[in-house]
Amino acid sequence: MPRQFFVGGNFKMNPSSVEQKKAIAKILNEAQLDPATEVVIAPPSLYLIPLKDCLRRDIQVAAQNCYHKTSGAFTGEISPSQLVDARVPYVILGHSERRTLFHEDSKFVGHKTKAALDASLKVILCVGETLQEREADKTAEVVNSQLQAVVDILKEESDWSNIVIAYEPVWAIGTGKVATAAQAQEAHYDIREFLKKHVSQAVADNTRVIYGGSVTAANCRELATQPDVDGFLVGGASLKPEFVDIINANR
Ligand code: PEP
Repeated sequence: MPRQFFVGGNFKMNPSSVEQKKAIAKILNEAQLDPATEVVIAPPSLYLIPLKDCLRRDIQVAAQNCYHKTSGAFTGEISPSQLVDARVPYVILGHSERRTLFHEDSKFVGHKTKAALDASLKVILCVGETLQEREADKTAEVVNSQLQAVVDILKEESDWSNIVIAYEPVWAIGTGKVATAAQAQEAHYDIREFLKKHVSQAVADNTRVIYGGSVTAANCRELATQPDVDGFLVGGASLKPEFVDIINANR
């Protein structure tokens, strides 16, 4: 079965009011979107429910993070089961901003991934190398070790159909410096090879691997032609009308 094209919009800590988010929802609600593409947007957690309530049914929402415990004295955190209770189907985990600014290591990301899957959340799992690591020819090594930490923590029966892997080179996030189609394809191919070796052939064949890092309306179509690029995770451009063109990149 072909992998369904997937486009996620990561609003990060933007924009600053519910009204601005409703304006984005209006653009999406009125747009002609490729019905074959799965669309998920991730506003700050405070806005998940108001945004979900004003979005058309075929657009889902994602939290930008969650903790790995169900409940308790963890001030400031949200649990996977609370997201499920609020009917939020997806969560982004392992984003490079969380790894860098909030010191989340790969093992911690693995525990959160397991907790999210156990609670029946779907996970957009982010991996990617820094510029220094790429220049040292360590892209595959870094990405594989980020994935290995997750594989080590997930039980064998974990359902990989609930994971979308986002390959997001750190040097491309928010920089305007997009990976070339060949660079993205190579990294995505390597991720599939890793899954084949360390999980299974079926998981390698069926898991969506999406690209993130300065995707725009101008560069999305060429990236989308690559055989192992199954969609995008979009930051800055997800707040602009051009997000519609990115959603339709595979049409
Ligand atoms: C992101 O934050 O996941 C991202 C890819 O950002 P941008 O598209 O702005 O590079």
